[in-house]
Amino acid sequence: MTTKLCRKLHTMCNISSARFATHGHAARKAICLSPACERSLASLPFAHGRIGSNVLLRSRRVATTRAAETAVESDASQEGQATTALTLQDLPTSGESDEMLRLRHSCAHIMAMAVQKLFKGAQCTIGPWIDHGFYYDFAMEEPLTKKSLPRIRKEMQKIIKKKLPFVREELSAEEARERIEAIGETYKLEILDSIVERDPNAPITIYHIGEPGEKGSWWDLCAGPHVENTGDIDPNAISLDDVAGAYWRGDENKAQLQRIYGCAFSNATELDAFHKIREEAAKRDHRTLGRELDLFSISDEVGGGLVFWHPKGAMIRHTLENFWKEIHLKQGYQLLYTPHIAKVDLWKTSGHFDFYGESMFDQMDVENEEYQLKPMNCPFHVAIYKDGYYSYRDLPLRWAELGTVYRYERSGTMHGLFRVRGFTQDDAHIFCLPDQIAPEIVGVLNLIEELLTTFGFADYEVNLSTRPEKSVGSDEIWGKAESALVEALNQKGWGYSVDDGGGAFYGPKIDIKIRDALGRQWQCSTVQLDFNLPERFDMHYITPENNKERPIMIHRAILGSLERFMGILIENYAGAFPIWFAPVQVTLLAVTDAVMPYVEEVAKQMREDGIRVETVGGMSMGKAIRNAEKAKIPVMCIIGEREAEAKTLSVRTYADGELGVLSADVVRSKVAAAANQRLAKAEF
Ligand SMILES: [Zn+2]
Ligand SMILES: [Zn+2]
Repeated sequence: MTTKLCRKLHTMCNISSARFATHGHAARKAICLSPACERSLASLPFAHGRIGSNVLLRSRRVATTRAAETAVESDASQEGQATTALTLQDLPTSGESDEMLRLRHSCAHIMAMAVQKLFKGAQCTIGPWIDHGFYYDFAMEEPLTKKSLPRIRKEMQKIIKKKLPFVREELSAEEARERIEAIGETYKLEILDSIVERDPNAPITIYHIGEPGEKGSWWDLCAGPHVENTGDIDPNAISLDDVAGAYWRGDENKAQLQRIYGCAFSNATELDAFHKIREEAAKRDHRTLGRELDLFSISDEVGGGLVFWHPKGAMIRHTLENFWKEIHLKQGYQLLYTPHIAKVDLWKTSGHFDFYGESMFDQMDVENEEYQLKPMNCPFHVAIYKDGYYSYRDLPLRWAELGTVYRYERSGTMHGLFRVRGFTQDDAHIFCLPDQIAPEIVGVLNLIEELLTTFGFADYEVNLSTRPEKSVGSDEIWGKAESALVEALNQKGWGYSVDDGGGAFYGPKIDIKIRDALGRQWQCSTVQLDFNLPERFDMHYITPENNKERPIMIHRAILGSLERFMGILIENYAGAFPIWFAPVQVTLLAVTDAVMPYVEEVAKQMREDGIRVETVGGMSMGKAIRNAEKAKIPVMCIIGEREAEAKTLSVRTYADGELGVLSADVVRSKVAAAANQRLAKAEF
């Protein structure tokens, strides 16, 4: 979803996507400064005419839900919390706080004003707000580096301290053109042209910093919103953090621009807290940890965006897949396996070929017929349904598949495990009767809760998206479906926010975001009703009256994609996985070669108990311990002659340190029990 949105946004806003990946879902909230961009107005809770006033027209309601108290405490919550008292939750994104949005957006203007003051000839292009800050793209000769930033920040502080008003002015397109031409800003002219082209009667607004026409005042073409006065900004609560290259309108054939990223908060304490959290997040970067822990690799040599799971990463994935399958089977799902390619006609029937084509890889020729790498699993599951004959008695069908799909991503947009070209969805489709929607949705929500709380994710932000203006399906079915979703959420007792009209044209949906150990939010689970595919594929079931009816189709994924979810887990746990999940649960370190037979014997018994164990010998103890710690192995057992004789182990855990000497049998049973119960750590 994020991927799709980013791309959409990228096209609409002409913002270079080069940095979107590193900003993750920040990109979804990025907004284009250009009033030409739909996102700058339509998706914002502000009416154009009121911009600039402090009147909040529609406040965003964000409901978070704490899942059952059964949540297992994660290692990460013990070891990795940011040291500051403020967490990300205390630092609202621009999407969550209109006050912060105004502040950050205003900072983009102030930065542009400062840059134009310091660098003669610098031209302004666009400068949107992002989650915790802002950026602005400049066309300028002088190369910007990080060293340029303190000077620009200082100039911004000067502007802020002057307490200059933000003044809105509405003018005709001709007038705007004259003024822009007078200052020779060619990019602004292009923006103006695209506004007029889109809607010749669109109001053109510019915002001045300082009284219009007064010496030292500055203006930019913009739709707002801003703070009322630069004095509303704390000069010590802004930072300029990075410079990057970008292309005008995100098009690599167009002019190369220079982008400056900054952050802004209400006060310096918040800014400081944010920087600390960001440093912690950088330490947890799954690409770095993935290499250090030897979990996976992605390389251009074999093809960008394609993940190679090394033995330890593969072991984690295997554990995740087993857990996933186990709880799905328990909930009455059946498993499917489908191929990776099929005739393109399948996606022509489904509509993906027309609507989703840009995300699909090119077709390949197989004996003069066009085949397609699958971008989605849905049509395959439909094909299996179509191969059978079902009556109302057979429904609901719950079909689950860890289905690998391939989607075309531009090389510049990929990012570790978060954005790849081949990934495995934890996909399932439920085919049911209209009356079964509510109980089926409850079942899905239960499954979501069970899966996510096992990883310690118990804070959810739930969003319900309802019928958009253009949609397929009758009023009756939409009404039934939407109330079934509401009923299911109420039954779970989950708070949620409503995105009115935000559903897909083919059905309403529920999206769930989780919060990781650093307080960052990740969109993972989605439950989506579909009144379209059953129609397109002419699916039916036989009613009690012997009539043919269309089944209701529910698409759902809990983790989203295994790759992305594993990236989230790596960062959430900072690589120190809970014992049940760790690729190696126990490492046995032999002090001398003489104890090796005993070490091998213990390892054999542990393997028989299902414990993932490795043995290390022929190495200095200091080095062996350091390696085990670097690998973040939950349990380390040091074995010398004394232990070998007494059939004991000297135990040290990653979570609790030195635990002393324990009998080998006790260690074995405690580790096995913790793994079976999917606990964060073994209690000795
Ligand atoms: Zn603005
Ligand atoms: Zn689907």
